[in-house]
Parts: sequence; structure tokens; C-alpha cells
Amino acid sequence: MSPPNPPTASVTDLPGAPQLAYRQGRLHLEETSLHALAQEHGTPLFVYSKAAMLAALAAYQQGFAGRDAQICYAMKANSSLGVLQVFAQAGCGFDIVSGGELERVLAVGGDVRKVIFSGVGKTRAEMQLALSAGIGCFNVESEAELDVLSEVAVAMGQVAPVSIRVNPNVDPKTHPYISTGLKGNKFGVAHEDALRIYQYAASLPGLKVAGIDCHIGSQITETTPYLDAMDRVLDLVAAIEAAGIAIDHIDFGGGLGINYNQDTPPAADALWQLLLAKLDARGYGSKKLMIEPGRSLIGNAGVCLTEVLYLKPGEQKNFCIIDAAMNDLPRPAMYQAFHAIVPVVPASDRPETTYDVVGPVCESGDWIGRDRALAVQAGDCLAVLSAGAYCMSMASNYNTRGRAAELLVDGTRVHVIRRRETAADQMRQEQQVSA
Ligand SMILES: *Cc1c(COP(=O)(O)O)cnc(C)c1O
Repeated sequence: MSPPNPPTASVTDLPGAPQLAYRQGRLHLEETSLHALAQEHGTPLFVYSKAAMLAALAAYQQGFAGRDAQICYAMKANSSLGVLQVFAQAGCGFDIVSGGELERVLAVGGDVRKVIFSGVGKTRAEMQLALSAGIGCFNVESEAELDVLSEVAVAMGQVAPVSIRVNPNVDPKTHPYISTGLKGNKFGVAHEDALRIYQYAASLPGLKVAGIDCHIGSQITETTPYLDAMDRVLDLVAAIEAAGIAIDHIDFGGGLGINYNQDTPPAADALWQLLLAKLDARGYGSKKLMIEPGRSLIGNAGVCLTEVLYLKPGEQKNFCIIDAAMNDLPRPAMYQAFHAIVPVVPASDRPETTYDVVGPVCESGDWIGRDRALAVQAGDCLAVLSAGAYCMSMASNYNTRGRAAELLVDGTRVHVIRRRETAADQMRQEQQVSA
């Protein structure tokens, strides 16, 4: 969590990928001027760096060098096809949470055998779709789901590979809305019930136990919760295998945090060095490993460009009204999350004023940043940083606002990966009642 009144990111100390930097007084992503992109493509506009995505992935790949490990990008963080394509081509599998996400994997030609299906509420239709596609594993979150999955698989003449998501009851020390591994949380099965539920899974005709899974939360910036969760999971692996049920792979989930504002999460390779040392020390170093990172692969590879529409001075607050809103950037409204907001072309000659940066949506919750010192005027372009994850994938059409366009930059090349949504796009599925 960010402190309530965090300092504004200075132009010399940008959170985000090293691919984001000021050059000749203009903010660039890789070799591309963001000012030029905003002028050409309009705002609000999401821009992602391919190099930053691949660098984030490389940190995990280095951490796992020489190991039997599979990285499954948790695509709910950002499921745009152009983003998925980059990760699929780099050899990633995918962690999906719906049938729709599976359709996206198929659309980009991702390897379905490297797909794992998470989530507490899979429908029969989603199970059928995933079984006929031949996904790698179902991460099952309840006994009731085991029954239904077995039934669906038997009816299709198939056997579903399963992991059970266990709840290690470890506090990830993050925001309560993105903490998932504690008791009293809807996810996973309780640690003390896990062995019994594994025995039940092994007895069902439509299931084959493949592995074990845990995911304790999101935006985790400390190492200890991961180490504690690993200990708890390995205790279970020992007990389950002692009961005669083989565990072929261990899935440690995702959740590694990124730097939004003076956050200091461990680097992926450093974290995994520690975790692998523990795994080796406990004698499980040769097990197949899986992980499900989302935010840490894409969050700091993206920015959202927005134009200042109006400045509205007030007695208690000054407002800077921008053309991006909570429908584009939902994290502040949902989690009181912090995104750094910086000028694309900083003006050194104007004084700074403290603003609440807000969008045009008719909700008081529609704010993007509070108490930010900015030297801006109407027409200026701002960049909302760390906007690669849980922004576009959570975007909505509230207030009949079309969703933003998205670009992928690759050095000096710029690819439009989503065109701006029009009002006609939004009304296409609707019809008026005929007389
Ligand atoms: C959301 C989620 C992830 C990814 O979390 P990040 O914080 O984005 O890394 C991984 N696994 C499961 C089951 C999830 O629900």
C-alpha cells in the first residue's frame, strides 16, 4: 500500500521500466517520443514497451536457469492480444481464469498444454472448453468443483489433470483486496483440509492429480511471505506423497510486486534464488516448478497518456481534470492505489501547484491521483505510470466512454494493438425494442 500522501515522482526518479526516460526534455518509451504518439493517436492512450516486457520475463527466466520450470503469464493483468502474443512467442504459458481468456490464448496461437486454469467459479461450459482444448492443468479451489470437474471429464471420456489450490494462511502484507492466501478468504482450500481433499480427488474417476498450487496475494514486496508459503506447501507435499499420491509439479502462483512509488520489491531472480535454495534444502529441487506472474511482467512496461482538459482552482482543493478516468484506470478507485503522474514535456518555467488529478466520470471516486505537485496548463499531456497491469484489462464503458487505444513500441517501431473504441462499437450488441 502507498502512504496516503506520497511525494510526486520526480522527473529524475521515475518508477517504471528503464525503457522509460526523459530525452531532450521529452518522455520516451524505448526510442519513441510519447508526445509524438499522443499527437498522432490521441488520448487516453496506453503504450507498452516490448523490451520492458521481455526484460521482466528474463528476470524470471534467469532465476530458473537450469531448472524444469514453466512460467504461466497470469493474463488477467493485461489480456490484450498484442501483449499475449509477445509472451506466447517468448515461450510463456498462461494462467487463465475464464473461458474467454482461453479463447484469447487460442487466438494468439499460444501453447494450450502450457495453460493452467485458476478461479473459484469455473462453469461446466468452461471446463468442457478447456478439456477439449487440452489445457495443462486445472487449479481447483473447492471439493464441490472437484465433483463437477470429474463429472464433466467422465462425460467427455477424458481425465482432467488437477492441482488443488491450498491456502497456506500466510499474510502477504499487501492490500486486503489483493490478499488471497489467508483464512476467511474465498480462494483455495484450508491447509488442514488439503490432505483429505487430495485423497478425495485421487479417488474420483475423471481426475488425475498432477500438482499442488498456491497464490497468496498480489503486489507483494517482501520475501518472507513467499518463503513461509513455500514451507507450508512443502509440508503438504510431504504429507500427500506419504499418502501415496504423486505430486508432479509445484505451482507457487504469482503476486510479486512492482515499484509504483518507492516500493522496493525483490527482483524476480533474487527472490527465486532464495526460494530455490529452500526447495533444494528441503529435497524438492528436482520437482517441476510453475509460477503465475501477472503484474510483475507487464505493470511497469506500460504508461497511460492523457491530456489535461481543465484546471479548476478551489478553496480547499485544486483540480486537474484529465481525459482519462476511472473507467480507463480503475486501480485508484478500487484499491486507493497510487500511480505516479508526470508531464510528458516538463515545463521548467511554470510554478508547481498541488492538484487532485481527476477524470470526467460522474463519481467522486473518479480520481487518478491526490495532492500531486504539477506545473501544468490545459492541453498538456501527462503520463500515468505503471499502467501496464490491471488497467486496460479492467477498463469499462461507464459513462459510455469508449475504451482507450493501445500501442506496443518495439524500438522505433510502433504497432497499434487496439484501436480506440467508438460509440458505435459500444452499441453494436444492443437493440431497441421493436413496436
Ligand atoms: C491474479 C492471479 C495471479 C497473478 O497475480 P499478480 O499479482 O498479477 O502476479 C496469479 N495466480 C492467480 C491464481 C491469480 O488469481
